[in-house]
Amino acid sequence: MKNIRYLFLSIILLPGTILAQVDEQRHGNRFEQLGPMLRSPNVYRTASGAPGHQYWQQKADYEIEVELNDDNQSIRGKEKVTYYNQSPDPLDYLWLQLDQNQRDSDSETPKISSNRIQPKMSLGQLQDIIWHDMDLGLKIYSVLDDQGNEIPSTVNHTMMRLDLARPLMPGESFTFHIEWSFNIHDRMSFIGGRPGYEYFEADGNYLYTMSEWFPRMAVYSDFEGWQNKQFVGRGEFALVFGDYEVAITVPADHMVGATGVLQNPEEVLSSKEMERWNQAKSSYDEPVVIRTQGEAEKLEKGKATTKKTWVYHADNVRDFAWTSSRKFIWDAMAVKLGGKDVMAMSYYAKEANPLWEQYSTRVVAHTLKSYSSRTFDYPYPVAISVEATNGMEYPMICFNYGRPDSDGTYTAAIKYGMISVIIHEVGHNFFPMIVNSDERQWTWMDEGLNTFMQFLAEQEWERNYPSRRGPAHKIAPYMSSEKHLLEPIMTNSENIIQFGPNAYAKPATALNILRETVMGRELFDHAFKTYAQRWMFKHPTPDDLFRTLEDASAVDLDWFWRGWFYGTDPVDMAIQDVKWYKIDSKKPVEVKADQREAYEREESYISKTRNATAIPETFVEKDPKAADFYNSYDRFAVGPEDEKAYNDFINSLSSDERAMLESGLNFYEISFENVGGLVMPIILEFQYEDGSSEIERIPAQIWRLDEYEVSKVFAKEKVVTQIILDPYRETADIDEGNNYWPRQFQPSRFEMFKQQLPARGTSTGPNPMKKKR
Ligand SMILES: [Zn+2]
Repeated sequence: MKNIRYLFLSIILLPGTILAQVDEQRHGNRFEQLGPMLRSPNVYRTASGAPGHQYWQQKADYEIEVELNDDNQSIRGKEKVTYYNQSPDPLDYLWLQLDQNQRDSDSETPKISSNRIQPKMSLGQLQDIIWHDMDLGLKIYSVLDDQGNEIPSTVNHTMMRLDLARPLMPGESFTFHIEWSFNIHDRMSFIGGRPGYEYFEADGNYLYTMSEWFPRMAVYSDFEGWQNKQFVGRGEFALVFGDYEVAITVPADHMVGATGVLQNPEEVLSSKEMERWNQAKSSYDEPVVIRTQGEAEKLEKGKATTKKTWVYHADNVRDFAWTSSRKFIWDAMAVKLGGKDVMAMSYYAKEANPLWEQYSTRVVAHTLKSYSSRTFDYPYPVAISVEATNGMEYPMICFNYGRPDSDGTYTAAIKYGMISVIIHEVGHNFFPMIVNSDERQWTWMDEGLNTFMQFLAEQEWERNYPSRRGPAHKIAPYMSSEKHLLEPIMTNSENIIQFGPNAYAKPATALNILRETVMGRELFDHAFKTYAQRWMFKHPTPDDLFRTLEDASAVDLDWFWRGWFYGTDPVDMAIQDVKWYKIDSKKPVEVKADQREAYEREESYISKTRNATAIPETFVEKDPKAADFYNSYDRFAVGPEDEKAYNDFINSLSSDERAMLESGLNFYEISFENVGGLVMPIILEFQYEDGSSEIERIPAQIWRLDEYEVSKVFAKEKVVTQIILDPYRETADIDEGNNYWPRQFQPSRFEMFKQQLPARGTSTGPNPMKKKR
């Protein structure tokens, strides 16, 4: 960097009016408090983001008996629900969720999905258009009160309203009974979805993953009333906490895994399995295989005609899921968390080995430890990972992906994909199974927080783990999408165009940026833990999260929520200009040298340069009158009067002024431009001519008076050779080309291809003489 400018040490009083000359165009309100954008605090939810002193939530306890029919892949069940009205409101009716009706002939899901004919169409894509009745809807046989009287009910697609004979008053409970059945669908077919079965053609067996399988209470809350927005496939669930007692009857040779603790192991496990199960309870270092691959393979070949009933009990869960198959291998190990033992376990078919026996249960244990350290000790007694070629979460149990090729080999992508999915789905126990947000409304509240936590757990599992989401620069391609393809994170689940980036990656990245760049790890980790502990086993809203993270850290983050959660602008900050100044020392020798340099620069021009060689010396006329005296006079020489003036000036300075004058500091005035719109902290790396470097961090509030252009002066003892904006790529800047001063040009690649000459007689080549057919 050349072009030093000098500044004169002087004190100028700036008129106060300068601050008033603010161009209103430069203000997009980016630093105003969220104010009315948040709900008014009340007795249920405080302004600090904590539950209020009259916080309430509903409760629903379930007793369910269900039987799996492995011959025609259906289930039939009956449930007793006790609903506790802990709200201050009388309720005339109750709403239940019938998620299975999303696959009914009358489903709205195919009706509201737009489609096009593609040049190539699969059977599945065509079936998706035709969507014939496959008899997959929920059949309800009876809805009765405790006295056996029928309760009037109305089914509206995936929601069912029960009209009560008299209002359910605050503090009262109401018990009712429902009997139902449905046909389980093939989730490996075009219908897809979370629950269902997988059929293994080679051995003729089924693997069932049962979720969304019973009529469940909808949430009635202080912020939403009844959450009865229809389930059309993407916006997941809003569910009530309660206690479950579930008896699952399956073929006697099946293995069942479920939410909760098995109540009758001695009735359903062999004595050998009982022995191994008890051994697993004190195995903290590695899993114990309770049903081996050999044993499972033997069972695959038969088909029991008798049945067994597995009884599970779970307290304080928002849902209940289970899995059943005679193909299952089962392993388990103990994890110590907060002074108690949790059983980490896995169920998988032989097709998932050797990957699953090596990793699954260990990853479950790791995830519980990692997440617990950042939130609260995992409160449930078990955590289960089931191999089911997909990924979906339920309390204590989740269905995951990761199957090697049929010869047992696998790529790194499969292995890391599997580990990531297990971390993610087990991690969902924390968000939203325990910190119970409303998924039907806000996908990001569980997916975003969980993806952020997943990133941290991945990095703890293996140094330099190839995490897909979390680091800031990985969201830049999404953030640079065209405007019409972007929505705020605060968008309802069903209305999101780019679902993965918007609901998973962007909020996860935002949290990671808060932790690494805006708040710092210590403040963030404390505030995040505060949020998790405040809302553990409760129903938080985004406001509760936004408020808590500020309340517990003393960091004003309203600008951050505005930009990252309510806005779609990307980050693109640029170094527009850098000016280098030094204080004029007024030393005569320096002043004169500068004057000489300036004179010579002024008097240097192209004709003079060329004439120096073009005109022979003998040809140059010399002025005969010019005396040697004038020619030899150096007007840039330092004279005694210069020295005196300088000494007089120095003697007039205070010692502080003199020190500043002689400091030799370099001042760099850097102008920054906010090209993208999303305001962020300015992080700078200064590289010096001696090879050393230094980082400066400027909070985002530097943009508060002018959101598009700011300048800042940095005083440096050393001479700067390079300035880099966002050197660690921590702000998700979508254009890093303008982050260097002097500019650095990074090559992009373009592809050169070998031009194919058109074969004779075809019309596909670029021959303008031939017409296209
Ligand atoms: Zn998820």
